[in-house]
Amino acid sequence: MKRVIIVGVGFGGLRAARILSGKGFDVLLIDRNNYHLFQPLLYQVATAALEQESIVYPIREVIRYWKGVRFRLAGVHGIDLEQRRVFMATGTVEYDYLILAAGSITNFFGIDTIKRYGYDLKHLSDAVVLRSQILGAFERAVQESDVSERAALLTFVIVGGGPTGVEFAGALSELVRYVLSKDYPELRMKDVRIILVEASGSLLLTFPGKLQDYTLTRLQQMGIEVKLRTAVRGAEPGRVLLGEGTSIPSYTLFWAAGVRAASLADALSVKKVRGNRIVVKPDLTIDDHPEVFVVGDMAYLEQGGIPLPMTAPVAMQQGEYAGRAILRREQGYSAKPFRYFDRGSMAAIGRGLAVANIMNLNFSGLAAWIIWLVLHLFFLIGFRNRAVVLLNWAYDYFLFKKQIRIILQEKKGDSNNFPE
Ligand SMILES: Cc1cc2nc3c(=O)[nH]c(=O)nc-3n(C[C@H](O)[C@H](O)[C@H](O)COP(=O)(O)OP(=O)(O)OC[C@H]3O[C@@H](n4cnc5c(N)ncnc54)[C@H](O)[C@@H]3O)c2cc1C
Repeated sequence: MKRVIIVGVGFGGLRAARILSGKGFDVLLIDRNNYHLFQPLLYQVATAALEQESIVYPIREVIRYWKGVRFRLAGVHGIDLEQRRVFMATGTVEYDYLILAAGSITNFFGIDTIKRYGYDLKHLSDAVVLRSQILGAFERAVQESDVSERAALLTFVIVGGGPTGVEFAGALSELVRYVLSKDYPELRMKDVRIILVEASGSLLLTFPGKLQDYTLTRLQQMGIEVKLRTAVRGAEPGRVLLGEGTSIPSYTLFWAAGVRAASLADALSVKKVRGNRIVVKPDLTIDDHPEVFVVGDMAYLEQGGIPLPMTAPVAMQQGEYAGRAILRREQGYSAKPFRYFDRGSMAAIGRGLAVANIMNLNFSGLAAWIIWLVLHLFFLIGFRNRAVVLLNWAYDYFLFKKQIRIILQEKKGDSNNFPE
C-alpha cells in the first residue's frame, strides 16, 4: 500500500486527505496541532465576539470515518527529498507521495521591534493574547492618572489595510462603541482611537475600486482613523514609529501587513520566491520531484502572470487537485495543469456591513454581509461550531453584547510593557 504523507491539517491538507481517503492509500496526516483552525474568524476571537473553541475542530473527529487516514501530532522539522523521508521530533517516516500544506507565518519583514512589541494573528493563542491586551489596556487606562499615558493605552494601531486589518478595525470599533463604553463608564469613549495604517493608497487592494471607496467611507463613519500611504518602521514600548519620522503613542500595535510561507520551507533546498514561497510547476509538484506536491500558502504559482493569493479557497482547490493528481497518477494518467477558479472575495466591516465581489458582481452593505455570514458558517467544520457561532452572532446582533470579555493570557517575554 502506498503511503501519502500530508504535512498540515489546514484548508489544503484536509481537502487532499478527504480525496485520498478510502482509495487504498495509507494517508498519514501530520500537524503540530491536534485541530483544524478556521483562521478567517480569528479576529472575532480577538475582539471578544467568539470563544476560541468555536473556530477549531479536533482533527481525530474529522478523520474518524475517513478510511486509511491516520494522524500524528508532531512538528515536522526537515525533509529528505532524495530518500523520501519526513523528520519529526518524534521520529522519521517514509513516503511514496508527499503533500506539503504547512501554510504560512506572519511576515514582519525583518522589523524586530514590531515582532517584539506588536501583536499578530496566526495561531489560536494569538487571538487570546490580543483580546487580553485590548481588555487589559482598558483596565489599566481606568487606573491611569497621567493623561498622555491613558491616551496611549486607549490608542490601537492596526497595520495593514487588507481584509484582516479592515475586519479587525471594524470589529474593534464595535466592541468599543457597543460594549466597552458600558463596561467603563469612568472612561470617555471619544478618547479611544483606532488607527488603521496602510502603506499603499487604498484599502482592500485586490477589490474593485468602488468597494475600496465604500470600505474607506464606512470605516471613517465608524470613527476609525485611516492613514493611507503611511509606512510603519518600528515600535517601542508605548509608541508606534512611522516611516515619515513621526510616531503614535500606543501600547497596542496589531500587525496585519503580511504573511510568508511556513518556516518548514526554510528547511528545503528548493526554488523559492519572495515570502519564502516554494515555486511549484503547473501540476503543483516541485522540480525533479514529481512525487512532492506543495499546496496552499506555501506554494507559489502564477496564473495569467499574477501570483495566486494566499487564501483559503486557493488552498482548498489545490489540496483537492493534489489528491486527485495522485489518484490519476496511480491509474497511469497524468493530471491537467492546476487552474484556480476564483469565485471572488469578501470582507466584513461591521454589523450588517460587508463588501463582496462574487463572480465579478459587486455587493456591499447588508447583502454582502449576509453572503459573508452564510459562507463563513458553511465552511466552518462541525455542526456544534456552526450552532455556537450563529448563536453568538445573533446574541451580538440583537442584544449588542460580546460575552467573551475575558483577560486570559498576556504576551510572554518582552510584551508591550504597560506603564508600571
Ligand atoms: C487572521 C487571518 C484571517 C484570514 N482571513 C481569510 C479570509 O477571510 N478568507 C480567506 O480566504 N483566507 C483568509 N486567511 C488566509 C487563510 O487562512 C490561508 O490562506 C489558509 O489557511 C491557507 O491554508 P493552508 O492549508 O495553506 O495552511 P493553513 O490553513 O495555515 O494550515 C497549515 C497547517 O500546517 C501546520 N503546520 C505548519 N508548520 C508545521 C510543521 N512544521 N509541522 C507540522 N505542522 C505544521 C499548522 O499547524 C496548520 O495546521 C486568513 C488568515 C489569517 C491568519
